[in-house]
Amino acid sequence: MKGTRVLSLLLWLCLMYFVGIYLFVGGFLLVRLEVNRTSTCGDILEPGDGSGDFCGSQPRFRRAVLLIIDALKIDFARFDPSNTAPRPYENKIPVLEETLSSKPLQSRLYTFRADPPTTTMQRIKGFTTGSLPTFVDVGNNFASSAILEDNLIQQFGKTGKRVVFMGDDTWESLFPKKFHRSLPFPSFNVKDLHTVDNGILQHLYTTMMGDDWDVLVAHFLGVDHCGHRFGPDHPAMADKLTQMDGVIRSVIDRLQNDTLLVLMGDHGMTDTGDHGGESQKETDATLFLYSPSPIFPAPLSQKEPDVVPQTDLVPTLALLLGVPIPYSSVGQVLLPLFSPHGQTGSAVGGLSQLEALWINAKQVNRFLETYSSMAKDIPPESLSQLQQEFSRLSSEYLLTARESRLPSSHLVSALQAYLTSVRDICRATWARFNPVKMAAGLVLLASVCLVCFMMSELSPALMREKTAGLLAPVVVALAVGACAAAAQLLTRGYMETAWCLAAGAFS
Ligand SMILES: [Zn+2]
Repeated sequence: MKGTRVLSLLLWLCLMYFVGIYLFVGGFLLVRLEVNRTSTCGDILEPGDGSGDFCGSQPRFRRAVLLIIDALKIDFARFDPSNTAPRPYENKIPVLEETLSSKPLQSRLYTFRADPPTTTMQRIKGFTTGSLPTFVDVGNNFASSAILEDNLIQQFGKTGKRVVFMGDDTWESLFPKKFHRSLPFPSFNVKDLHTVDNGILQHLYTTMMGDDWDVLVAHFLGVDHCGHRFGPDHPAMADKLTQMDGVIRSVIDRLQNDTLLVLMGDHGMTDTGDHGGESQKETDATLFLYSPSPIFPAPLSQKEPDVVPQTDLVPTLALLLGVPIPYSSVGQVLLPLFSPHGQTGSAVGGLSQLEALWINAKQVNRFLETYSSMAKDIPPESLSQLQQEFSRLSSEYLLTARESRLPSSHLVSALQAYLTSVRDICRATWARFNPVKMAAGLVLLASVCLVCFMMSELSPALMREKTAGLLAPVVVALAVGACAAAAQLLTRGYMETAWCLAAGAFS
């Protein structure tokens, strides 16, 4: 009898302990639900009435080369001719500036801003799924599991594009068996500056010259490892960046007319070469786009974005290469890569700005509808506002398309504003802490510890006195928990299990 009592007391403490952890973690790791749906060619999203085959029509580019230079922050990519005494990390990649000034209709350089955490795996997820990280993902970083959400690599595969990958083996764990051909090199030795890069260079140019690929992904790690080992302000960094300058030149020389070059960093680095946090030095990476044939408007003829969020690469690449935008993406197409109003069906193919934005807005609205039917974390007021705005834009667009009117620039900016507010609301919902929950969890854990301590001190006396004392507290706790649940249901229309458990535990 005494044994049962001790056992149930221990079980009770155990339960309280887990509730405490559950509360704490629930406040710290706001979970964004993963929507396991996949966009298909059929459901997308042809401009206008929805007829025709989106994947079958001719895209703007047949192929793309994605060069990822790990930790290539925007400061490394900028070139300042007036700087006569550059630091080791400054002015080492002049090819970008040379290209920008000699071929302004073919190239752009943007600040490519990452959503923290600025770790490589999170960033790869971000710029392939177009979704935002949640802090629960940071823990997953070490388990390195495959990406289950819809993503660019999967869409390329489904539409028959052959993706050839080489470099950082993180990709292999995120996209197992998704590549047409894969040459992974080990990424774990941070002191090793050359194995991955040299491995890529042995295969990159020969692969480019061949014709058994549609999307080529090469992820260099040397710059990142050099930062970790020496920091950016070191001669080794100068050597590494100079080597990358040569790589970019060679790739540009070998590009064919139907191929887009995307050169990017996944995150930046601090002055000591670290990354992971949310300072601007860590979030602001490089995005350099180059097309062998003119694609961009003349400089200053159109409004250019100052900063490109990393999620925006996803819809942009999808629509340029003619694949559906991944289902859960909240990114926004990069307008300078699409032709301005009204000029569709040109010889080069591809969508107009308005068409691209419309496809994008439909996809984002569909994601929002699916997500909000599964999870209740997006505030209902914001949600209904967004839905109203979408149906307004929707009818305005359809009217424009049906009457083949010249689209107003007002509609373009309204669609952009809609996409921006969706992303802002998602970001505000998913990337924040809940301090009350965390504090409640901590208090609960502390009191469990205190009870444990008291019991170890008083156990003989306690055991003698308490004969039938355990049942009453359990009943009280259950009652209080149920009350908390009912109150939540009445006031908010739904309940959070954590709070019910907590109310029970505290009583
Ligand atoms: Zn990285």
